[in-house]
Amino acid sequence: MKSAFLMRKGVKTSIDSLREHVRDSLLDQESRMERAAMRPDEAASCRWVGFGLGKGVTSVNRDISVFGVPGKMGSGWHAELVKDFPEVDPSPLCYEPHHTKGFADFARWVYFANPAGTGDFIGVDFGLKERPTAGVAETMYRVAQVAKACLRHGLPGETELVMLHPRMVELPELTQLRQSLGLNRVADWAANGDRLFAPLTGTRCPACGLNTRGPEYRFCYRCDHEFLRAVA
Ligand SMILES: [Zn+2]
Repeated sequence: MKSAFLMRKGVKTSIDSLREHVRDSLLDQESRMERAAMRPDEAASCRWVGFGLGKGVTSVNRDISVFGVPGKMGSGWHAELVKDFPEVDPSPLCYEPHHTKGFADFARWVYFANPAGTGDFIGVDFGLKERPTAGVAETMYRVAQVAKACLRHGLPGETELVMLHPRMVELPELTQLRQSLGLNRVADWAANGDRLFAPLTGTRCPACGLNTRGPEYRFCYRCDHEFLRAVA
């Protein structure tokens, strides 16, 4: 079974690899990260202003990624990507905090394609307080699993992977944490995510990624995440 799909004109087709399509947004003038839609302070430091904007979803358990270029339809596109799969809510319910099934186990992401050529980004929606079915990676461990799945589905490993805030920027503290851990490219996340964040054996908090683990702690004192323990 194929694992990567392209959504175009309302139709999903199976593709060999995400690689051939993640920069399709550059063919569509409507799909850009617009400076005018951003907070001025964030636009000033954001490295993907003006980049082409494509959107994807990945389910680690189903081993599926779906990608497409939203065009004029900016918001709500992620719901289009998942709507034919079982166990998801229709739009707009899937986006609501009180959703029933939400996005199920799909995590949403955005691919920012650099018109200048190289230096693309994938931004995985991230939020520690989100429900697991919100379509948002609620732990850094899940971000790493999404990175691995995207690599399997053909996303270029050299793409920088950032953790995306709903305003489509990465908060500075997350950029710093990521860089301090050497988590720059998709390939870095895939290679090191388990060592750092695995629920039983990782060295960091699986959720917030901080250095809060110790044998004496049951919970992360920064984000309240409950640590799993091996049963003796
Ligand atoms: Zn934590």
